[in-house]
Amino acid sequence: MRRRDVVIAGGGPAGAAAAIALARAGRDVLLVTGVDDAAFKVGEGLPPNARSLLRDLGVLERTLADGHRASPGTNAFWGNATAHANDFLFQLHGHGLQLDRTRFDAMLRDAAMQAGADILQGARVRIVAPGDATRPHRLALRPVDAQTHAEAESIDADWLIDATGRSASLARTLGARKVAHDGQIAFHQRLRSAGDDDRDGRTWVEAVENGWWYSVLLPSRERLITFLTDADLCDHRRLLDGDGLWRALADAPHLHAPCTTHGYSPASQPRGTDASGCHLDRAAGERWLAVGDAALAFDPLSSKGISNAIYTGLRAADALLRHARGDAAALDGYASHLLDIHRVYREQLRAFHAMERRWPRARYWSRRHAALSVRETA
Ligand SMILES: Cc1cc2nc3c(=O)[nH]c(=O)nc-3n(C[C@H](O)[C@H](O)[C@H](O)COP(=O)(O)OP(=O)(O)OC[C@H]3O[C@@H](n4cnc5c(N)ncnc54)[C@H](O)[C@@H]3O)c2cc1C
Repeated sequence: MRRRDVVIAGGGPAGAAAAIALARAGRDVLLVTGVDDAAFKVGEGLPPNARSLLRDLGVLERTLADGHRASPGTNAFWGNATAHANDFLFQLHGHGLQLDRTRFDAMLRDAAMQAGADILQGARVRIVAPGDATRPHRLALRPVDAQTHAEAESIDADWLIDATGRSASLARTLGARKVAHDGQIAFHQRLRSAGDDDRDGRTWVEAVENGWWYSVLLPSRERLITFLTDADLCDHRRLLDGDGLWRALADAPHLHAPCTTHGYSPASQPRGTDASGCHLDRAAGERWLAVGDAALAFDPLSSKGISNAIYTGLRAADALLRHARGDAAALDGYASHLLDIHRVYREQLRAFHAMERRWPRARYWSRRHAALSVRETA
């Protein structure tokens, strides 16, 4: 049976970033990518300040030349019906990007391979026997392709990195507790227009009574619409039914207007996906670390998910390498650093929610404001 220095479960940006850093440091790394490599992936806004992280990974030039769409900023209807523009032009780092996420994630995995990591596509990692001070983890790698009836391969790993996204399935198996902040879900759909006159690369955001919407123009020239609400507050069947999400966009008049002006109509089935905020009570333990959404998943309102995934991937790799050199505080230091990031992020999110007071009785907002009033009276 093969023994690896590090097995990374999950081929999103967090797993790929950790793989790049560890492979460059000479570790024997296997990156196992999960199921959905080629599927459309939501989560496309890369803010300008993410450039320094891409530079650290050695992929900035490649990303800028890879056909993603430049994004000049955001246009938000939040707190009142007036447009609030945030123009990236006036910031230090230049424009942001609307990514083709499938291509971006594949490019990061390719960079990991070039750095020396092995990639196993289309398989899931399961823990057969957790490692301890003396033994590595015993893992099973099971192909997920329905056509494949192959047996799971067994493998030993000195280190396991959980980059499985919001499920954090491996860290939880190893004893970490997932703390959910909300029950948010995202419904999204791509639109297409026969005309070719929509050039608005900004991220449009609009708060509504039961949540909020955003819309972006993708590199494919399709326009994405996304509705975020709490899973218990919406009629899933209605929103996932063909034109249901598209029809519901009428509740967001500022986004609806440009979509109809440009003659858009639905071009894909609407999909629902977990968009909850959550974090692990500890992001590292005996022979394991969690990175990206698995460790700390933000509300998409923050546009920080990809940056956080890359940042934590790099920091986790650094912590692992320092631990291996005898730094006994490296893993705890990583875990407590993530809790600090979590605290700052929650403050920022509260400030955003505090700005929207138009629907005090609506449950989506009253839930978010309840946390605020506890703090304000404390
Ligand atoms: C609606 C929405 C909009 C968003 N918008 C933005 C945005 O504009 N900007 C931004 O920065 N972020 C955004 N995000 C967040 C961003 O997409 C995530 O933060 C980012 O993808 C996290 O990367 P990750 O590598 O941690 O996890 P993921 O990208 O989720 O990758 C995890 C991978 O692990 C695989 N996997 C799962 N279990 C296993 C297993 N057992 N073995 C092997 N593989 C496994 C999965 O198949 C998946 O491919 C958005 C998210 C949502 C839901």
